Amino acid sequence: MSDFEFDLFVIGGGSGGVRAARIAAGHGARVGIAEEYRYGGTCVIRGCVPKKLFVYASRFSEEFEDAAGFGWDVGESSFNWERLIDAKDREIARLETVYRRNLERSGVEMFDSRAVLEDEHTVHILSDDRRVRAKTILIATGATPNVDADLPGGEHVITSNEAFHLADFPKRVVVAGGGYIAVEFAGIFAGLGAETTLIYRGEEILRGFDDDLRKALHEEMEKKGIRVLCGDVFTSIEKREGGDYVGHTKLGEALEADRIMFAIGRRPNTAGLGLDAAGVVTSASGAIAVDDQSRTNVPSIYAVGDVTDRVNLTPVAIREGHAFADTLFGGKTWSADHSMIPTAVFSQPEIGTVGMTQAEAVAKHGTVDVYRAHFRPMKHTLSGRDEKMLMKLLVDPASDKVLGVHILGHDAGELAQVLGVAMRMGATKADFDATMAVHPTAAEELVTMREPTERVTA
Ligand code: FAD
Ligand code: NDP
Repeated sequence: MSDFEFDLFVIGGGSGGVRAARIAAGHGARVGIAEEYRYGGTCVIRGCVPKKLFVYASRFSEEFEDAAGFGWDVGESSFNWERLIDAKDREIARLETVYRRNLERSGVEMFDSRAVLEDEHTVHILSDDRRVRAKTILIATGATPNVDADLPGGEHVITSNEAFHLADFPKRVVVAGGGYIAVEFAGIFAGLGAETTLIYRGEEILRGFDDDLRKALHEEMEKKGIRVLCGDVFTSIEKREGGDYVGHTKLGEALEADRIMFAIGRRPNTAGLGLDAAGVVTSASGAIAVDDQSRTNVPSIYAVGDVTDRVNLTPVAIREGHAFADTLFGGKTWSADHSMIPTAVFSQPEIGTVGMTQAEAVAKHGTVDVYRAHFRPMKHTLSGRDEKMLMKLLVDPASDKVLGVHILGHDAGELAQVLGVAMRMGATKADFDATMAVHPTAAEELVTMREPTERVTA
């Protein structure tokens, strides 16, 4: 008789944990999972899904304006925040039920509780003070928003967690940060009608993305009325008597707002998790250190997803969880491939990208041919909107291989998904040229850029 009641115990019922639990159970393992908040995790409950629903909501204001150029009189329009929140909450509750049902059907035992490690095989379920022993433990506790603990008045700011549940829609918003969440939420708030400012400490938003895209998105955001302040940070936040806020900045701005949102990165969710008791080693950033098989330094403990701070995206967490479960319980060893990951930023306009940025390509290959198209998409010939689309292909002239594709514009995320397949297959510029265009689309630019715009050498 085994000393363990579970073959696998998963801490964290988000993207990575749920996938691992279901796959392991499908392979016949006895699996338990603990979730302290809501099944589905960050992505479903307060990340990708509600965010994308907000993005859809925020786009209507421009659609109504654009309609006039096509002969439509839309008339007066107004936006009701409460109705959006209610509809979003219903959809998230539905999805949470689906997650629970799927776990149940897979035979996974669920514990609606915080769980912490006591040693390398023991998990303490806090809600009923129960200890369970498992042969293998998977940590999939995700990440949590960073806050600036040293900032005077920092307690007054909200993060993305609160942004999904605000009682009132703020008329003036300042978003701090220049990454995915900051640019996405600046677009959401602005599209829904808020006077919006984004404040970012660096020279240009979206560090790590292709420089042309960063600059072009910055310009497009400003055209939409978003004030984008780079090279500045908050030095203090003041709450005023009327209930609104003033954020004072290093460069001397006093930014008034009904809400100030911080989106300055996320940190791995490891506080109070009992890592020391179990002997699990973390990196300097607090992430759980793992190898490419998601193994920690303790043989019985594994970790996947944001808590390992590798590539913090939902599909990556899911794949890491799947690979872990197949490898340990399905007799099929594999690991998630972290190269060539397509990604989208649901900014407005949207970003879709796969492969190297121009700077990375030049650093690696020395010489790179850049094909760049910056154009007004057909829709805006009649809408009259001053918005441009940017498409960029980076090609290694020596091998003709496409090293990176970067798109700013409508549905760029959808395009990135498909381009990800071509890029994984090692597509060359000749493959793009040989592919028949789909007309009339914006994406046809990708297969009709004949001559390089420039050749860049390191
Ligand atoms: P999570 O999904 O965070 O799950 C961890 C779970 O563990 C949580 O439910 C938590 O409550 C639980 N937990 C933590 N500690 C314990 C404990 N001790 N005991 C029990 N339970 C515990 N990614 C994309 O790919 N596309 C997007 O568009 C996108 N948008 C995002 C928007 C926002 C606003 C945010 C914040 C993130 C977004 N992400 C997006 C990132 C994505 O949400 C994460 O990469 C993904 O959720 C990571 O999955 P995970 O399983 O590692 O962790
Ligand atoms: P990001 O890492 O994308 O961006 C963090 C931003 O905050 C950067 O601009 C960073 O600046 C800035 N920053 C960091 N520390 C400070 C500080 N102390 N003061 C001021 N600014 C600071 O994190 P996010 O929070 O936006 O999102 C977290 C992760 O979630 C993303 O990296 C991504 O992996 C995932 N995500 C994915 C989405 C998608 O797929 N569409 C959407 C949302 C999130 P600097 O660049 O100078 O370091």
